[in-house]
Amino acid sequence: MTLKLRIDAAAWRSHIDEIIADVPGLVPVTKGNGYGFGLDRLVAEAQRIDAELLAVGMPTEVALVRDAGWDRDILVLTAWHSFQSDAVELLRDPQVITTVGSLADLAEIAEIAPQARILVEIETSLHRHGLPTSDLTRLTDLWGDFAFEGWTIHLPMVGDQFAEATRLARQALSVRRGQVWVSHLTGEETRRLADDLGCPVRLRVGTKLWLHSPALETTAQVLDIHRIGFNQPVGYWQKRLPRAGWVVVVSGGTTHGVALSVPNMASSARRRVRNLAEQILNATGLARSPFTIAGRQQLFIEPPHMQESLLFVPGRTCPVAVGDQVPVQLRMTTSYFDEVVIE
Ligand SMILES: *Cc1c(COP(=O)(O)O)cnc(C)c1O
Repeated sequence: MTLKLRIDAAAWRSHIDEIIADVPGLVPVTKGNGYGFGLDRLVAEAQRIDAELLAVGMPTEVALVRDAGWDRDILVLTAWHSFQSDAVELLRDPQVITTVGSLADLAEIAEIAPQARILVEIETSLHRHGLPTSDLTRLTDLWGDFAFEGWTIHLPMVGDQFAEATRLARQALSVRRGQVWVSHLTGEETRRLADDLGCPVRLRVGTKLWLHSPALETTAQVLDIHRIGFNQPVGYWQKRLPRAGWVVVVSGGTTHGVALSVPNMASSARRRVRNLAEQILNATGLARSPFTIAGRQQLFIEPPHMQESLLFVPGRTCPVAVGDQVPVQLRMTTSYFDEVVIE
């Protein structure tokens, strides 16, 4: 029983190579579930492209990528806190660069690990981590105390990110020169920013590097099929179906990250109307599933089970057979596959 990710190796790698060629000094990012591929596979890919540095999310992921064979520098992206597991020990690791987002944390690091390699994060309109620009001048007292690797700016997905990056980087560089590390700019913007600022700019990329490629195919397997009559109760919750048709049991449940509905950022009015329609559908008891059978996204009979989902496929004949692989749309950053095939 298989929820499967198939990667067309040649196409995927040519996509990755294209992005690497576009952005000199790009920092590949892997964290969490390894963007659906797994940390191991992305470590192997970072080695293939000969990256000097790999970025991870949390301090505990440093050991995980090392177990997967990574032996070069590692940047930890989440702003440092003494209470995070492994965070204090890693300050003393010469291969690890730590991101710090407050004066208090910098002062603490200066005390406990004065040689730590530090990136100082500036608060952006995202308002996640980072020190406010008003704190920049108060950094002066701390400069002597750690190995400064540069400034980091984590940008939102929308808005004028380039203008924001330029403004914040200029403010930071007026306090101290150093590399500027950014996210969510294009390759062209990154080069332009480096020109404008007159210093190296390092772009961290995860999603676009690993996922924005047509080389990926995610499928679920049909495990069982049952004929069901109109109004016949089905499933854990004994729901009655609105028409006669088929219960199609597919691989892929909550364990794999298949959710009843993926919250999405509805940007266009059309999208919002569609979401509303789906909510109405929900009210009737059947929600749209991410599984496609016979060219249509089929309905869930009930919320996904741990490893399987029950779909309702209306009609007299069933368009699939047990064993078939059917397309499934997943959010890769929350997905776990039974099988990853790279060929
Ligand atoms: C996760 C992360 C990235 C990579 O983000 P993508 O949208 O996956 O490219 C870059 N910078 C920071 C600070 C992050 O936490």
